[in-house]
Amino acid sequence: TPPTSPARSSPNILITGTPGTGKTTTAEMVALAAGLEVVTVGDLIKQRSLHDGYHEEFDTYWLNEDKVVDEMEEMMAGGGMCVDYHTCEFFPERWFDLVVVLRADTTQVYDRLESRGYKQNKIQENVECEIMQVVADEARESYSSDIIMELSSNTVDEMEANVEKIAAFVAEFQSLHK
Ligand code: ADP
Ligand code: MN
Repeated sequence: TPPTSPARSSPNILITGTPGTGKTTTAEMVALAAGLEVVTVGDLIKQRSLHDGYHEEFDTYWLNEDKVVDEMEEMMAGGGMCVDYHTCEFFPERWFDLVVVLRADTTQVYDRLESRGYKQNKIQENVECEIMQVVADEARESYSSDIIMELSSNTVDEMEANVEKIAAFVAEFQSLHK
């Protein structure tokens, strides 16, 4: 084991991507398949008020990044966490052994967000975010390229293949860090 390797026997994984790309579903399946614990950051922010109030116009909470990082620090210390969030640049780089960026076609993102009841402007914003590869670029700027896995998630088959791939990574990491 290289000296720089983090002292955790189970990896921390970040699953990121535009809303509607399948993060929450994938994270839950990975957790089940690989025995990790899920951290749904969006829920944590709401439950523990890690924000600076609600922004009516943008229909979202004002993210307080410092509060989120402080709150998560202890959870991440032991490894074995599968983190689900739609942005990735403010997490400490040292937290993650694998960063998965989920990608989906415009029509998929559109349909999934529409059936979730998102307003048109919010759907459009997210569709553009996916087309412009905003989250993928953000991941490349924030993490080493050799820990980034960009995966297509348009179909259930693709999602199952993604879960298998991530679970295989977990198993290999665990066997190397016993
Ligand atoms: P996110 O957490 O990224 O917003 P979700 O996991 O909530 O995305 O998925 C949004 C919707 O799309 C859910 O109804 C989910 O079942 C569906 N979905 C996600 N990924 C896929 C996929 N690869 N194939 C088919 N449906 C999917
Ligand atoms: Mn989600």
